[in-house]
Amino acid sequence: MTMTDFDKIVEALAAADDITIASHVIPDGDCLGSMLALAISLEELGKKVVVVNADSVPDMLKFLPSQEKITLPEKVTNVSPLLVMVDCTDLERAGETVSQWKPKVKQIINIDHHVSNSYFGHLNLVDSKAAATAEIIYSLLLKIPATITPEVATCLYTGLATDTGSFQYENCTAKTLRLAANLMEQGADIPLIREYLWERKPLSSIKLLTHALPTLTLSHDGKVAWMSVTQEVLDKIGSLLQHTEGLVNYPRSIEGVEVGLLFRELPDNQIKVSFRSKKNVDVDKVAAQFGGGGHKRAAGCTIKGDLETVIKKVVSSVGEVL
Ligand code: AMP
Ligand code: MN
Ligand code: MN
Repeated sequence: MTMTDFDKIVEALAAADDITIASHVIPDGDCLGSMLALAISLEELGKKVVVVNADSVPDMLKFLPSQEKITLPEKVTNVSPLLVMVDCTDLERAGETVSQWKPKVKQIINIDHHVSNSYFGHLNLVDSKAAATAEIIYSLLLKIPATITPEVATCLYTGLATDTGSFQYENCTAKTLRLAANLMEQGADIPLIREYLWERKPLSSIKLLTHALPTLTLSHDGKVAWMSVTQEVLDKIGSLLQHTEGLVNYPRSIEGVEVGLLFRELPDNQIKVSFRSKKNVDVDKVAAQFGGGGHKRAAGCTIKGDLETVIKKVVSSVGEVL
């Protein structure tokens, strides 16, 4: 993270009247929480802010303040000269429409915490030690300076809680926990967050588990484990892709497993792969072999092809780095 870009970003945000903020496809708590915290704060300062995402907000995140303002990129007729990208390794992570804005915008600000970030912005604020992009947004808001309202605190706390798996993954540091405590004091709505994230799963998502668990397979002396979810299963039980979130933790949680994987069939002959590791394997590097990326212990990619072929290819690549 370079201090110069940090200061230039603060300046650029202060100078702009119109700002567009975008985040990655198949959105999660960190990308939406970070995007909304920044949007609420900039609006508070009198700026016109447009928040976009190519996919709809998952039900479990529909409590986030201002989430109803998120629009599809196709609906934006006049893109502002300043585009802020949050939690994205590259511009393409926000989907095709946002990628095509590149020649139209004057300046792109890239705020992210993925090791595999490509520094695609004119200004880049990338800190791979941050547990969540929300952590970086918090320091930015302090510098602007913007008031951390209870709404902003709720957004940022959600980013921290989701990207650290409720503060249990390796990326969670003392700084993360201190920040979470600050956000609690600043009015983050913890009961609301708890309810939406952990205590109101649709019944179909638990039923999904009964279909996913039988697919559990281990290889490489029990060091690799994976499960898969087909479109057929999703259709049969009336479940959605968003309900597969977290399933990858089952294979990883097994004793002796170093890499846990989840393969999800997408509607368009593509497979979304989630990688999770425990101690030794940098899964961002394996995901990068397939055009994806992420963090050392959590990464992802999307591969064209049928389920069986993709599983074979990915498991074999994981085997090479064990
Ligand atoms: P997921 O398995 O989708 O929960 O993703 C795990 C981590 O990898 C998250 O931090 C994602 O942002 C990141 N990630 C997932 N898919 C990709 C991709 N295609 N390119 C870059 N990063 C990704
Ligand atoms: Mn994310
Ligand atoms: Mn993140």
